[in-house]
Order: sequence, then C-alpha cells, then structure tokens
Amino acid sequence: MFLSISTTGTPERPATDLGFLLHKHPEKAQAFSTSYGKAHVLYPEADAQRCTAALLLEVDAVALVRKGKGRGGAPDAALAQYVNDRPYAASSLLAVALSAVFSSAMRGVCNARPERAAAPLPLRIEVPALPARGGPDLVRKLFEPLGWAVTVAPVALDERFPEWGDSRYVGLVLESETLTLAEALRHLYVLLPVLDDAKHYWVASDEVDKLLRAGEGWLPDHPEQKLITSRYLSRRWSLTREAMERLELVRLAEADDSEVEEIDNAVEAETEDEEKPTPLAVQRRDAIIAALHASGAARVLDLGCGQGQLVQALLKDVRFTEIVGVDVSMRALTIASRRLKLDRMGERQASRVKLFQGSLAYTDKRLKGYDAAVLSEVVEHLDLPRLPALEYAVFGAARPRTVLVTTPNVEYNVRWETLPAGHVRHGDHRFEWTREEFRAWAGAVAERHGYDVEFVPVGPDDPEVGPPTQMAVFEIKSTANVEKEAKAA
Ligand code: SAH
Repeated sequence: MFLSISTTGTPERPATDLGFLLHKHPEKAQAFSTSYGKAHVLYPEADAQRCTAALLLEVDAVALVRKGKGRGGAPDAALAQYVNDRPYAASSLLAVALSAVFSSAMRGVCNARPERAAAPLPLRIEVPALPARGGPDLVRKLFEPLGWAVTVAPVALDERFPEWGDSRYVGLVLESETLTLAEALRHLYVLLPVLDDAKHYWVASDEVDKLLRAGEGWLPDHPEQKLITSRYLSRRWSLTREAMERLELVRLAEADDSEVEEIDNAVEAETEDEEKPTPLAVQRRDAIIAALHASGAARVLDLGCGQGQLVQALLKDVRFTEIVGVDVSMRALTIASRRLKLDRMGERQASRVKLFQGSLAYTDKRLKGYDAAVLSEVVEHLDLPRLPALEYAVFGAARPRTVLVTTPNVEYNVRWETLPAGHVRHGDHRFEWTREEFRAWAGAVAERHGYDVEFVPVGPDDPEVGPPTQMAVFEIKSTANVEKEAKAA
C-alpha cells in the first residue's frame, strides 16, 4: 500500500521544506507501528527543486483479521479474511496510517515553518492502486471540486489478458497549486475510504466527529457531500443523517448570529419609533399573513422558521389553528422556543404550536397534510444544487395547497446605501436572484408539480429595479383545472 506526495521548490523556498511540513526528516527512513502493520516514510528524492515523500504501509493480515473479529466486524468468508486486497490497495487502512503518521501535518501544525504550512504549495500526489468503487468518473467528481487536477487511469485486471477488462483499481495522480498540505491530507483521509467503500472497522459514532474534523473547510460545500458522508459512515443512515445535519449547522452557525441582529434591530425599530418606515422584515411578515388569509389556510408550516418571529405573529391570529415551525438549526429553534415562551404557555395555546428540527433537503412525513407552507428567506440559504431536493420535499412530497416563497431581489441591491456594489445582503446567502431568475425557477417548479404561481412585490416597488423582496404564491391546481387543461391540450 503506497502513496507519494511530491512538491517542487525554489532556492528561497526549497522543496525539502516538505520534510518540515510532514514532521519527517528527508534523510532518514522511518518506520512506525500502527495497529494494522508497519508504516514506512521514505524520500525517494529530496533536493531544493523536487522532494517526494512516500508512505508505505506493510499490512499485517493476521492482525487485520484479529482486529476485525475483536470489533464484531462483518464475518468474512474464512479465506477472504487472509487473502484479500488489503495488503496492496490504498484503502481506508492507508487513510488511518496517514492520520497516524502525519497527524500534525493534517492539522496544519508546523512550528519550524509556520508560514509554509499556511500557504498553498505545488503538490503532486500519486496513488498507484486505488480501489475506486464508482470508477474514474466518481474519482473526478470527488477531487475536482476541491481544486485538484485529476489524472485517473484504469488498471487492467491482468496486463497479459487485456480482454479481461479493467480491475476495480485505478492509478490516481492529483495535482494542485492552490491547496495547503494539511488540506490535501484531509482530502485523502476522507476520500480514500470513500472510494474504497469497505471500511475495515466498525463504524462508531465518533466517526462522525472524525469526518467533520477532517472535512472542515471543504465538506460543507462539496457537491457530493451526501455520497461522501454516507459512504464514509459505511452507509449507516442514522449516522449519515446526523453528519449531514451537523454540516448544515456548521455552515449556518455564523449566519445565525448576524440574522439575530438583523431581526432584533428590525423588531426594535418596530416597537420604538413609529415615525421610521416599517422595516422590511415586518413588511414581509405582513405580506405573508395577508397571502395566508387570502388562501384561507388554517394549518400552516413555517419551513426554515429561524427564531420564530412569524410563528409568534401567526399565534396572535385565531384564524391559524395549527402552526408548525421547522428549522435545521437547533440553536434557532431554542431561541424560537424562548421567544414564544413555550414552557409557560397555556394548554390551549400550546396545542396550536409545534417546533421541530428537520432539514428541508429530505422528504419528511411530518410535513404532510397542511394547508400552507411558508418559506420566508430560506431558499437562498441552500446551495443551488440542493434546491431540487427542497423542491421535491415541499412540492412533491409534503404538497400543501398553498406555498409562499420569499427571497431577496438582487436587482434592488443597488438601492441599499450601505451595501457595497456586487455584494449579497447576507454572508450566508448562496445566491440572490433577479426577478427574472426567480420567476423562471418558480414557474418551472409550478409546472413540474401541478401548481399555479403568482408574484407579489414586498416593500417599495421601484420602477427600475423592482421591490427589495419578491414573493411567489403557489396554489395547487384543483383537479377540475388540471382536467380542463388536459382537455385543452
Ligand atoms: N424564515 C425566517 C428565517 C430566515 S433565515 C425569516 O424569514 O426570518 C433562513 C433559515 O433557514 C435559517 O433559520 C436556517 O437555519 C434555515 N435553513 C437553512 N437551510 C435549511 C434546511 N436545509 N432545512 C431547514 N432549514 C434550513
């Protein structure tokens, strides 16, 4: 089992600094015992221009079997326990060795060359035999979004018999100039076992912590986040879900703080100064409540309810008999429950309201059977590639009669005096749409799921750039309408 890391250098920044970064001296061949065998670190080349460190793991097949048994691993066929690809394929074992031998480097710690540990460097990583379930395509999908140039060559099952086709191994070369060594090692630590897809030890819940730690800074935004998470956790669904939700929290942790401020300022303005124009957050809430009244909804979902301002407003209105706030952020829900004083509420009032944690990227039985769902300033917090999942969960699975979606109109941003040109309104906004983009999205969603959609401006409707907030009001097509249209078509 073998992996090599190379870098190039200049007289001022010699390549041999790699030895400092890895905490392994280039002039010494070193061996470390790990629980699955001996790991060797050696440098096939080391000068100012080029330096290559190789990690070689000699797997102890017997130890491997014992460990597997001791931990209640899958009972393999007797022979397969001893005769398998573990000794030579770069798998999860190599990842474990990597983290054992290069643990400081993985954390980006380097007292001798701190400035180099923090800076990107030219890197070339070679893994000659990588088991890749999912093939070369998946290898590219996993590494390319992280800034790697990927060369992946299928390895023939047997070179003497090309007609036998390819094995499930590939030869992998990764090259980048934009990553730090710590980032590179953390990518390998997670993605080698993901590609191997056969973890050798029992997945315990601290694996979620390991994954989140190694995934810091890249996994929350990776387009294949779900596949990576579920394979890394050996497809244990409850763990995968926990990890996904915690990743979402990591991403939102910062957003929460400023959103609290934004909203609390709005509320202050609302209560203190009647002269000031009504804050946008309040105008939005009013527009939502008006649209809910018009639809006749009594049982309402507030999806991505944040800290519960809308839930609170809906509770004051007896027309709403059941109000459910859902958010992925536990912290937001805790604040919401404090705001609503849920623990001190009378029984009747309390029976009208529920808060629960959930992610809109998953279908959820608990969301079925409501009159209306509100998504107020939520869609722009999801990465675009995840919107179809939200679309399906809301319009495909939950299917309330009415859906209200509000989102910023990016065209209006030029009117905000304090907003630098070209900036979005909030650091956690993944995108902001023009009126046309929003209409295109909402129109397509309505079309796909059998809804009609209309658009309502919220806030001053500027003749040139439109309103600051745009709202789409979706109403499910009645069966009669659907039939009529089918006939007409
Ligand atoms: N609806 C509130 C809060 C908007 S902020 C308002 O109008 O003021 C966006 C909210 O969406 C945050 O509370 C965030 O936690 C939540 N959110 C983001 N992604 C989510 C997801 N995938 N599932 C559920 N909630 C999500």
